[in-house]
Amino acid sequence: MARMCMYRFCGLIALAVILGSTTIAVGQTAHTKKVFMITDMEGVDGIFNSELQCNPFQSPRFEESRKLLTGEINAAVDGLMEGGATEVVVWDGHDASRTLSTLDIHPKARLLMGSPVSSTLELNSSYSALVFIGQHAMAGAEKGVLAHSYSSDGVQNIWVNNKTVGEIGARVMLAGTFGIPVVMLSGDAAACKEIHELVSQAECAEVKWGVSRTATFSLSHPAACSLIREKARRAMERLAEFKPYVLSGPVEVKVQFTTKATPDIQPRAGIEQLDERTWVFRGKDIIEAWLKYSSF
Ligand SMILES: [Zn+2]
Repeated sequence: MARMCMYRFCGLIALAVILGSTTIAVGQTAHTKKVFMITDMEGVDGIFNSELQCNPFQSPRFEESRKLLTGEINAAVDGLMEGGATEVVVWDGHDASRTLSTLDIHPKARLLMGSPVSSTLELNSSYSALVFIGQHAMAGAEKGVLAHSYSSDGVQNIWVNNKTVGEIGARVMLAGTFGIPVVMLSGDAAACKEIHELVSQAECAEVKWGVSRTATFSLSHPAACSLIREKARRAMERLAEFKPYVLSGPVEVKVQFTTKATPDIQPRAGIEQLDERTWVFRGKDIIEAWLKYSSF
């Protein structure tokens, strides 16, 4: 009798386990985890010189750089998929979006290439996470390898509500307005420092350590790729811990141009010139303010 009850009890537990796992399985298939990947070249392992390596189809070592970037992207796609991503969209974010090729991009990724794309990078709230690969730090960052903010020699400083930002900051804030958390970055140590100031728990693959703006200690390409794969997998496994970066409005974007730049900006509602080199762009949120200045 006692034994029979035990069997029944076990049966009930087994049934509960089966029902439970069925529910989880249904939940997982219903919930896709789509990841948007912003790619750039200056933060990739082995890259230290723009003229030599980064100008599409002009730099003598461009083809090598393209391969290094592609290797890092594909390692990240592997890691993201291992960590639970169901879809990865890779945006070719370096210099006018003409670097990557469908010949050698990860077969499970979808490539967004060419320009123009929407000023908000074709992002929407269907994405579960955003990651950066090959990312450099903002203009003026200490020991930031090839550090710049959007324009290589046009922008000195950008502030959003008095916080200094570069491409990382602006895009973390952009993603936040769509409810997308930024979970991972690969790049040099200065870029990792920058993401951690905004998203302290972000996974970061440091693939090189700047000595100056144009010199660096770098991991080998295979070592960089395995680190990136590992960090990408961890980031997806930890996805539930992340929250989108929310910037409550109104927002003020202040841009100080370099002496070399001659920005063609007409003052109008929400746009004001503060001094010879500095302009301010105001809006109800980051998107409205930023788009008065530039696309993301
Ligand atoms: Zn860039």
